[in-house]
This record gives sequence, structure tokens and C-alpha cells, in this order.
Amino acid sequence: MTAPTIDLKAGPLHDLPTPEPESPVRTRKPYRFSTLCATVENPDQKDQYGSSSVPIYQSATFKGVGNAYDYSRSGNPTRTHLEHHIAKISSAAHALTVASGMAALDIILRILKPGDEIIAGDDLYGGTNRLLTYIRAHGGVIVHHVDTTDSASVLPFLNPDKTAMVLLESPTNPLLKIVDIAAISKDVKERAPNAIVVVDNTMMSPYLQRPLEHGADIVYDSATKYLSGHHDLMAGVIICNRDDLKKQMAFTINSVGNALAPNDCFLLLRGTKTLALRMDRQQATSQLVATYLHGLGFSTHYPGLADHPGREIHGRIASGNGAVLSFETGDKEMSERIVGAARLWGISVSFGCVNSLISMPCVMSHASIDPKIRAARGLPEDLIRLCVGIEDPVDLIDDLEQALIDAGAIAYNAQQNKYTRVLPSTNEELNRAVQKLGLGDSDDQEWLVSAPGKVILFGEHAVVHGVTALAASVDLRCYGLATPRNDGKVSVHFADIDNFYHEWDIDALPWDAVTPIPDGEDHPDILDQVLMDAVAAGPLQKLNEAPKAKAAALAFLYIYLMLGNSRRPSFNFAARGTLPVGAGLGSSASFSTCAATALLLVNRAITLPPPPQPTTTDPAVAAPHVHVSHQGRRFIPPSVAERVNKWAFVAEKVLHGNPSGIDNCVAVFGGALAYTRAGFGFGGKVGMHQVQGFKSLRFLLTNSQVPRDTKKLVAGVGALKSSEPELVDGIFKSIQSITDEARRALSDPELSRTELLSALAALIRENQEHLITLGVSHPSLETIRATTASYQLSTKLTGAGGGGCAVSLIPDDFQQDTLDKLLADLVRENFVPYPTSVGGSGLGILSPYTPPNLKQEPQPQVTAPGQVTPPETPGADAGDQQLRLSFEKQSMTNLARWAQDLGRWVYV
Ligand code: PLP
Repeated sequence: MTAPTIDLKAGPLHDLPTPEPESPVRTRKPYRFSTLCATVENPDQKDQYGSSSVPIYQSATFKGVGNAYDYSRSGNPTRTHLEHHIAKISSAAHALTVASGMAALDIILRILKPGDEIIAGDDLYGGTNRLLTYIRAHGGVIVHHVDTTDSASVLPFLNPDKTAMVLLESPTNPLLKIVDIAAISKDVKERAPNAIVVVDNTMMSPYLQRPLEHGADIVYDSATKYLSGHHDLMAGVIICNRDDLKKQMAFTINSVGNALAPNDCFLLLRGTKTLALRMDRQQATSQLVATYLHGLGFSTHYPGLADHPGREIHGRIASGNGAVLSFETGDKEMSERIVGAARLWGISVSFGCVNSLISMPCVMSHASIDPKIRAARGLPEDLIRLCVGIEDPVDLIDDLEQALIDAGAIAYNAQQNKYTRVLPSTNEELNRAVQKLGLGDSDDQEWLVSAPGKVILFGEHAVVHGVTALAASVDLRCYGLATPRNDGKVSVHFADIDNFYHEWDIDALPWDAVTPIPDGEDHPDILDQVLMDAVAAGPLQKLNEAPKAKAAALAFLYIYLMLGNSRRPSFNFAARGTLPVGAGLGSSASFSTCAATALLLVNRAITLPPPPQPTTTDPAVAAPHVHVSHQGRRFIPPSVAERVNKWAFVAEKVLHGNPSGIDNCVAVFGGALAYTRAGFGFGGKVGMHQVQGFKSLRFLLTNSQVPRDTKKLVAGVGALKSSEPELVDGIFKSIQSITDEARRALSDPELSRTELLSALAALIRENQEHLITLGVSHPSLETIRATTASYQLSTKLTGAGGGGCAVSLIPDDFQQDTLDKLLADLVRENFVPYPTSVGGSGLGILSPYTPPNLKQEPQPQVTAPGQVTPPETPGADAGDQQLRLSFEKQSMTNLARWAQDLGRWVYV
């Protein structure tokens, strides 16, 4: 007898026992996946009545002693059936089922112990990130987030003694990026054989991807999605082949009691029977939908499309492309219209259901993420995600087409006799025209500007050796006031540098030494030494007795000359600050930013957009669209901020020779920045990157008043590195992981404020310990640390150490009277404390558009554009004089409040 031929195209074969044993005449034929799914049979668990469907043992307890079941937390017959079935369809030795996908991850993470290191993707499901942050803060586990779509990025973090787990997810959601699970698993086995590779397989299900076969040790799914398929339960499944891992995880499940309840086990078992059938239909339709959208010219993300960048890898590790895809329309409002117009496609989060779903991740599932973080993750605002169900594909595409037509995304093209894409029109020209109307063309315009100082939160010293440093703006600011003069002179007044004042005849400045920068180009990388020398030898020649003020004046005049050749404006620039000069808090960069902004504004090299118009619903008088958000605070356009930053960097170069550029970036952009120097490689991305979504935090800055020698301290760390390279490299690696984690925690929208603060406090303590080992702390700093520790605050040095300042994180609920006591203690110890906040706004400009509610106020006002004030004293106008005098006479403690009360400030 010959065996009947088998259609091998019907699906992959699985090497699992069939009811028929192998015999010489009839070879064993493993069942295919859909057969396995539909056949729920556990030879060890025969039903006494032969029920076709597994009964629900809705019982917490079982009678008797020494039986298979006694208590449902430890075991339940319905659950045993389900777990046997899941193991079978997953080709795995063991399966465990728990209350949700997140519960599954929680059980897996409990394998780790304090000190273990975990390497995880940097674009994981949000809930996964949240849990990792928690175990980092509370479990002493070190988490490295890397871009796992590039397998090589895992290598630098693999350590045979420390790496305990590698956590992967492929494809990612909603952009469908692919991770090479097989290649990474191989690397892990070779370089850190004790580490466990864990894969979140939710997007694929065991039908399409079985990571255990590619080297993973543990795989989990949110069974809430495809495994159940009907969005009617929450569940998580864990599978593995290793007995020891199964035993350990089963122990945890029994201990914490989050195993899946009997009723949900029943539902999941029922859903699983149709997994292959549903998936086949869902992904076949997905391919049609993706091809349709791609054909219309929409940028479409689906591994089934020929131009998908991860297609080849995905083809190796998976046997299908799944049923989630996404596409971009180029216009957020158009996307919203499409989503709103779809009828068959339900608007909902999640995926894996038999019904088709449509969503805009940026407005729905990812709406809680700061738009800037979304942008940093490359998540387009107009992205539409489709989760394809089992409805008839013709109906689905028809409904989608109707939605595209209704939304104006496609239109009938008579020439081609088909619907073609309508490209979204841009309003850019209109905006440009509106912008031109912006400011009046008056030379009497005054400008009051301000910029923050900075603190290094994490990574000082290590940054010199290629580790990422995290710096944030501090709410102690420098203010700069440009006041027009009418006497052919330009002058500076630096109140904080020995009250320095000097004025120059504009015509006597060394204009001949200026090499003009061609229109539209920026200042070259290198300073113009000819001009520097000419300024030093000419206008600054006699100022040697005030070297600090001379340096600041050099920076000012250098930019004045570079920018001002055609206009040669006559004005006074006065600068003052609320932050201590020379305490390592970035006072020079905030000065540079103020000076550069004032010079650019006075020279009209930058302009602000026009004022926000009053909103009206009458289309006849509707306001032109201007980008005003955050109550008008974020009003300074990025292009203006970029320009200011370039010139602030020029000023910093004049002042310091070879600055890193991080201080001026913080002064201009505010918030927090991560900075990694090129050429080393502890895993940080080289360059300067804004930490998106940084939340303002309360900090106490304490100036030890101990002068430090930065160069010596840096050299000391270098010497230690040479003598004990292993120790120091280990420290640098740990600091890199601290900054990575701080960065991630700070921008994680899923993290509660309390979780964030406790995570940061732990990182501060960790970083300080490393700095002590590097030998850069100081007894004064340790005294500050001990004093603040007695108030339960975490403190570290900031900057070079060896004196200088310390930073302490203040919890939101820290009582004012307790803070007052702490401040008194610190003052008693001869320290100077500054309660402040970090992460606030960057460059600010006092709005030139006088707010109506301030018009009647007696406060001195910045002159509105076009408003000419009569001259009263030689060289300056009366109104300006009034503002200038007021600016200069404010006490340092009152300066910030005074500036704030002047009117409406606009920020980057
Ligand atoms: N992993 C992925 C990829 C997910 O999409 C989700 C949920 O959306 C989870 C894990 C968490 O699963 P659950 O919601 O069942 O806890």
C-alpha cells in the first residue's frame, strides 16, 4: 500500500507525533499547522464523557489529597489542556499561560537577579519599556537599549559574565521594521552563552514565526491578539524548550498567582483552533491592501512588499508577513479624514482581531508620546495603521477606496480612467508670504532676550572618552537687552563682570578686516583669525585689566562685525544673569546665546513670525495659519533657533577656543541633550541629540565654592584609565548605560512621575559612586552629599568635580519648610544653594507684539515695532533708557520675576 500523496503547499510540517506510530509500510506523517490548531487533544487528559470541547473547570479548589489538581493557582485542568495545545502548535516542549502579554513578560523578567544586564530593542512595545524601566529602578538590573534592527549594535554590549537576557521584538509596530532574530541569537550563543534570548512574537503568532527554531530560549505572545483572535479576552503565553527555565517560570506563576483563569483558558483554546485559518485570510488580504495602497503611490510599510528593507531577513525567519500594515498620506489632516470616512474598518487600538481596524497611531495608541519623541522614532504624524481582519477583501478595499475618495486622497483621473492619488498641497508659500509681513522695519526696535544655563546630569568625565553625557537646561538664566542708540556708537554693559561698560565709534571699528560671508551661508567652522587679531589690536587694545570682560566684548564685536557690514546698527547691549559665573553652569553659553540672538535680531538676520491672530470662525476674516502652540510659548521657529545656535557657537569658540557645543545647544533649545563624541564607541549615537519629551524636574544646585582645576581633573581620569584600563572601561560602560537609561526614562510617556523620579534618583547615586571611583569627587562635595542624604535626597557632582557644584534631585512633594531647613544647613556649612528646576525652556525673546492686557500697565515696555520714541538723552531714547535703567537696577533675586512680568515671552 502506498501512502496518499500530500500537498506540501498546504503549510509547514511539524515534527510532532501523530496518533499513528511509524511503521515499515506507512511512514509517520506529521500534521500540518492548521490540523494541529483545530485538534485539541491531550493523550494524558482524556475527558470522562468524551466532550468535544474542553470543559471549563471553574473551580478554585479540588477535593482529595495527592491528586493532580488541588488549587487553581497551582494548576487547573482547563489550563493544562490549553498549555498542552499551545506547546503543540508552537513546536515547543513547554507552554505556560498567564493573565496578559505583560504578565508573561513579568514572569520572564523575574528570572533576572540584581546586577544582571539585559540588552533590549529601542523601539519596543510601550508597556515593555515601562516594565524594563521598573526593574531597572527597583530590581538593580542594568538595561541597555540598542537598535536591534541592526544586529551589530548588540555586539558591544554582550558580556559573557554579565549579559543575562536579550529581548527582541520583530516586526516592530506600527512601522514593521525587522530584527534578525536568528543572527542575534547566534551572536548571543557565541559570545554570552549563558544569556537567554527572549522574543515577543505577538505580531506574528506561532503560525508565522517560531523563534525557538532560530535560537531563542523563551518566546512570549500577547495572546490577546492573534492567538485568541476575537478581542474578547486578555492573555499571555510563554513557550520554551528548556526544562530548567520552564520550572523556574512555573514556580513564579504559582507564587504570584497570575496564571490564566479557567474561563479565559477556554476562550483562548477555542480561538486558537482557527488561528491558521484566520491568519491565512488576514495576511492574504493584507498583501492585497498593501499592494493597492503602494500602487496608488502611498508610502506603505509591509514586509510583503518587494521594496520593504527588511524583506530578506523576514523571509528567512518567518513564513508569512502578518496582518498589520501602515501607510503615509503626507498630510495629517487628510489621514484623519480617511480614518473618519472608513466604515468597515473600525477605529480602535490593538490588533489581531477578526474585524479590520484602522487607526492613526500618533492620534490614538501613541498619542501620549510627545510629538518630538514620535518624530525622533521616525513615526510620521500622518501614519495610518491597518489591522486586517477576515472580512471579504473586496469589501475591505472598496471601503478603503471610498474613504480615500471622501478624504480627497485620491480622485478620478479621466485621462487614465482610474482613481489616482491627489498629492497634498502645501501651504508653505502662503506661510512665507505671511511671514514677510512679520515685523515692522523699524530701527527703534528693542529686544530683551534670555537663555538658560546648563547642568550635566549624567556622564561627566566619561564623555571625554566617548560615553554619552546628558545635559539639561537649568532655570537660572542670562538676560540680554539690546537698546537702540542714535549716536553712531555701539556699546556693551556686562553687569556681572565687574559692571564693565565700554562704547566704540562704529566707523572706527576694523571693518576692513571683515571677510563677508556670502548670502545664505553660515559662519565657517574656523574663526577668522585676521578679524580676531584686528579686534584685539584695535577696539579692545586698552582693556587688558579686565580679561573676562575683554573676552566677552571680543565675542560680541566679532559677531557684530561679521553680521553688521551692511547695516552697522547703533545700539547698546546689556547682559546680566541669575546664574553664577564660572561655577560650571554654562554661564558663558547663555551669555553667548543672548548676545548672538540680540545681534541677529538687530541686524535682521533673523525675524520672528507674525503675531498670532485672534481666532474667528468667520472664514472671511479667518486668521492665516501660524505655528503657535503651547499657549504661544513655542513660537520661535526651529530655523531661527538653528541660526542662533550656530552664532552662539561662534561666540563660544571666541571665548573658549574648542568648546563641545553642548552648552550653547542647551541654552538655545532648552530641555535636555545627549552628547556623544565621535571615535570611541560605548554604544551612544555620536553627535548631539535632544532628549525628546524631557519633563521639567526640581533640582537643588549647591555651589561648594571650592575652585577646581578642570584640566587636572580630566588628566587624572586619563591617567587612571592608562594604569587601570579594565576598571575604568567597566566604569565608562556602566555610565553609558546610566545615561542611556536616564534618557529613555525621561522620554518614556508610559512612566509615572513617581517612577521616573525614583529611577533618576537611583541613577544619580550610581553615577556618583562611579565618579568617586574615578577620583573626581571632593570632600566638600561629599559633605553636600551627606547633608542632602540626611533629607533622603540623591546627590551627585556636576561638571568636572573636585569642587564646583553638586546637584540633588528634589521630589515633587518635598515640603517647602523641609527644603528651607536643608538650605539653612547648607548655608551654615558655607555652601551656596540654588533651588531651581532643570529641563525648562531654551532661548526666550520678549514678544515684540505688546499684549493688550499690558498696554495700560505702568511697567516699562519693549517698544512695539514701528513705534518711534522721542530722543531724550544723547545716544539713547527715553523709553529705552527707562527699560534699560530698570533692567540694570533689578536685584539678582528679582531679575527673573521682573523679566517675566514685562509681558509675553516666546520660546524655542
Ligand atoms: N507585546 C506587544 C507587541 C503588544 O502589542 C502588546 C499589547 O499591545 C503586548 C506585548 C502586551 O500584551 P497585553 O496587552 O496582552 O498585556
